[in-house]
Formats: sequence, C-alpha cells, structure tokens
Amino acid sequence: MSLMATFMAAQVEPVSYTLRFPEPHTHYVEVEASIPSAGSEPVELFMAVWTPGSYLVREYARNVEQVTASAGGKPVGIRKVRKNRWRADAPGPLTVKYRVYCREMSVRTNWVEAGFAMLNVAPTFLYPVGDLKRPARVTVVPAAGWSKVVSPLGEGNTVTAADYDTLVDSPLYAGNAATYEFEVAGKKHLLVNEGEGGMWDGPRSAADVRKIVEQQVKMWGIAPYPRYVFFNMLTESGGGLEHKDSTVLMASRFATKLKSTYSGGIEEGDFRGGWLGLVSHEFFHLWNVKRLRPVELGPFDYENENYVRSLWEAEGFTSYYTELLVARAGFINPDEYLAAISSDIQTLQSAAGRTVQSAELSSFDAWIKQYRPDENSRNTSISYYTKGGVIGFLLDARIREATGGAKSLDDLMRLLYQRHSGPRGFSRAEFDQAAATVSGQDQSTWLTRALETTEELDYREAMDWYGLRWREAPAEKRASLGADLRAAEGRLTVSRVSRDGAAHRAGLNVDDEILALDGYRVTQESLRRRLRFYAQGARAQLLVARRDQILTLTVTLGEEPGRYRLEADRNASADQKLNLAALLRPY
Ligand SMILES: [Zn+2]
Repeated sequence: MSLMATFMAAQVEPVSYTLRFPEPHTHYVEVEASIPSAGSEPVELFMAVWTPGSYLVREYARNVEQVTASAGGKPVGIRKVRKNRWRADAPGPLTVKYRVYCREMSVRTNWVEAGFAMLNVAPTFLYPVGDLKRPARVTVVPAAGWSKVVSPLGEGNTVTAADYDTLVDSPLYAGNAATYEFEVAGKKHLLVNEGEGGMWDGPRSAADVRKIVEQQVKMWGIAPYPRYVFFNMLTESGGGLEHKDSTVLMASRFATKLKSTYSGGIEEGDFRGGWLGLVSHEFFHLWNVKRLRPVELGPFDYENENYVRSLWEAEGFTSYYTELLVARAGFINPDEYLAAISSDIQTLQSAAGRTVQSAELSSFDAWIKQYRPDENSRNTSISYYTKGGVIGFLLDARIREATGGAKSLDDLMRLLYQRHSGPRGFSRAEFDQAAATVSGQDQSTWLTRALETTEELDYREAMDWYGLRWREAPAEKRASLGADLRAAEGRLTVSRVSRDGAAHRAGLNVDDEILALDGYRVTQESLRRRLRFYAQGARAQLLVARRDQILTLTVTLGEEPGRYRLEADRNASADQKLNLAALLRPY
C-alpha cells in the first residue's frame, strides 16, 4: 500500500462492534454494531455461511436472534431478506444490535460459558453487503471476573482489522487462560491454554511449541507475521483451524500425560498423531494456504461454496509436513515417522474409494463429502488430506532422486512461496513449472496421473531412494468378513460394508445385527476370535436380524486387507541410509 493509499484507508470510517457477555452462563454474546453511512441505499447486512479453511456451508445465521436497528436513538425497521441477510429501512449511520447463541465446541464455531468465550468471526459479525474493504473495530467487554482478551490483531480490549477478510481471520478469546510468551526470529508467539485444569503441562507445552516454530521458520526461511497466537482450547474436543497470524486448536487437557497423545507415537502397532502434530499442521498453514495458496482459494465468496481442486496441496502437503516436522524437531524417531507415513498409505490403500475418486475430485467435492462422511464414504471417496499427503511423500522422493539429493520438496515449497505468495495464488500449471525448475525434470505427467486419475500410486521409487521395505505381515492370515462392526446396547451391528468384500457379496447390510456364526452366538470379541478358526474362502452361516426379521446369510470369507507398514531395510546401502537421514535431519 502506498502512503497515499494508507492515508485514504485511514479516512474510511470502520464498522465498530462492541461485544458483551452479561450472562455468559447462558451461552450468549450480545453484539452492538455501529454501521457508518456508505451512501443513500438502505443498509443490508450479511453473515458468512462458512469459514475459510473448513469447506462446508454451516449456516451460521441460525444462531442469530433479536436483530434490531436504530438511528440517532430512534428505532429503524430491519428484516430478513435471505437466510443470512438483514435489510434495514434506512441508510447508515445505524446502530444494529443482536444476540448470538454460542454453544458449539469446534474450531469454526462459537463457545461462551461462565468461564470464557472463544469466538470465531464468521459466525459472529454481521457486515455490510458489498463493503468488505471497509475496516472494522472490535471492542470486547469481558464478563465479570474475566481478566484477559486475546486477539491476533493486537493487545488490549479494542482491536482493528483492515478489512473483512482480516477480521474473519482473527478469532477472539476472553477469559482467564494460562498464557505463555516466547520469541523466535524476533517475533512474539503466544500460547493461550484455556482449561489446563491442573492436568496440562503448560510450561512444557510452551517450550515444545517453540521447537516446532523454530524448525518451521528455519525451513521456510521467513517468519512473515507480526505476532502469532496459538489459541489452545483444552476442552476435551479436537481439531484445529488455521488463520493468518493465529490458530485455534482443541484438545484434551490430559494430552500431555501420554507420549502418543502429546507428540504422537506407536500404539498397538499403528501410529497415533498427537497434539504437537496438530500444532505443527496448523502452524505450517500460515505459509501454506494463508499466504501461499491455490489460485481458487480467494478472494472468498463468504455466502456460497468456493470450489477448489488443489486441496491435495493446501491440506495434503501440509499433512505430509505435519509429522515430518515433528520428527525433525526431535519428538518422534525415524521408526515412528515411518509408522506415521505408513498409516496414511494404509488408510488410502484399504479404501475402495481410491479406485473411484481422484485426489483432485476429492478436493472439489469437499463441500458435499469431506465433512459429511457416511457408511459408504470409504467405498466411494478418499481424503485429499490422506492421498495428498502420500503424494507429497512420493513427490519429495522424486525430487531428491532427480537431483541426487541436492533438492527436495522443501525447495519446491520455498520456490512456490517466493513466486506465488502474493494476492493471486498459484495455478496447477504454475505448480508444475516450479516442480520442473526444482527437480530439473518435467513432473507434470506424473502429477497428472497421481492427482487426476485413480491409478494406483507406485511406492517403489520412494522406497528405493530411502532404503525402505514393507514390514512382513504375520504368517498366519486371518479370514475376513469385510465389514466394520459396532457393539452398543448389547447388540453387535454392522457399521460399514467394504465394497467387493465377503459381506458385500453375501448381502450383509449396514445396521444388520449379527446374532450367531455357524449356529453359535457371538459378541464382537468372540466373533473376532472365532474367525481365526476359518480359512480364507471357507463358507459360514451368519444369523442376523434386520429390522427385527431373522435372516440366515451364507458368507464366503475373504482375505484380510493388505498391511502397508514401511520400515528401514536392514540391507539398505550407505547412500540409502544417508537419504533417509537427510529427510529427517533438523534445520
Ligand atoms: Zn489443515
């Protein structure tokens, strides 16, 4: 922005909001908005229907009530004209008041209770339609007994945002959270732990977040934010959402108690991601997505779906780096890292949906599929997080192999950032050009096959570069039913049927209650044990109840799905061992 432009912007009167919590235990925030004059047209206000980073229309306006308007102290008519819009009978300046019910504990919605408020902006603020460049000023009046207000927009109870996009990207917290401050690359970082409850190890978590931050800033070579806030809600829930200068995380206050729930680790043979992985993932987004983004991810239409084909990069590559950077920061060892990438490969290879939906289509259909899984999802779809992450792993190995280890996906991410982190974003063609520049080879044919088709991915190249092999499966193979089961209220029922598995062929349905196998009653545990007495291809009679009707189904038992667990090959060459070490080496 030029000096003149800055001066002009400063002249535009902001929309001013005051937030109050007179009865926080009833879960309401009361909003008073001063809407400046913007011409002679009546004021029309909208509420966003979705939050950037979470691609589902969530209809936030459903929690808004008692919208009233006034001008100079006199009431002005205001009424709904769309599901998420209100039109006043007069132009500005107007004062508009309303209340928002805040009792949905997730990283994209609002929560208010006696002890604190965690507010997202999309589901809280009504904004003038067509006036998104207008700045905003927000004053938070904390409830009695609340000692602090935290916003990525700055210190204090009143903060300003340059425009609606900036406001939407800036969640607000008020309460008495434990806060920890540290500096990396000359920038302040704040960890806000709401709900430590004597269980969460606050000082340790702050010290460890710092290590993740250091590793990532070194990788990207730039800390492009004035100050960064980790809102860490220890509310026995889960999830994370990225913002430009902050993130909202949700976790269990007990997560620091176990390695697997804290830094991630192997439990019962499988990798389990931990809280530091969540930190790593969301922090990585401040570069990848919030500043370097696919071209379709902006400018946002806050009232409609925004279709995007490249979430395999935005979310998938971020997922690839999630555990990689936790490993580089020293929290998981090479075997644990290999278990983490293996769990993505396992998830992908065991979903029949990989033969139905490409990574690109998975991204495009996020709005109707990713956040709305049902019993058939794994048969018809894959996650752009999972397949995108695996593609990131494979592309990284391809770049390393093509350059004899001189370059890596890290170099590609940095080059993309240099070239495309401006306001426009990158196209798929520009991504391919950058990949060719870094690797010295055209990657577009490989990328097109990996991203736009459902052809199986080839893991051999990466395994060969890093000296990896599949861990041998146990010699004893079990017969499989090809269905997921759920035990609840004394009943064993089918929760999912795998396409082309034994249950699918036999006509076993989701919600069927399984009563007996070959004439003997089973529980979830005894069925699992008894299936071990059968060989693959053996026939068995299943007694089931479907909507209270008793049926007998003949099942020809199938093969257990393959296991995909990478490990370092003991016979790997010295070069291969160096290649694996280079992948995991800290900056
Ligand atoms: Zn993400």
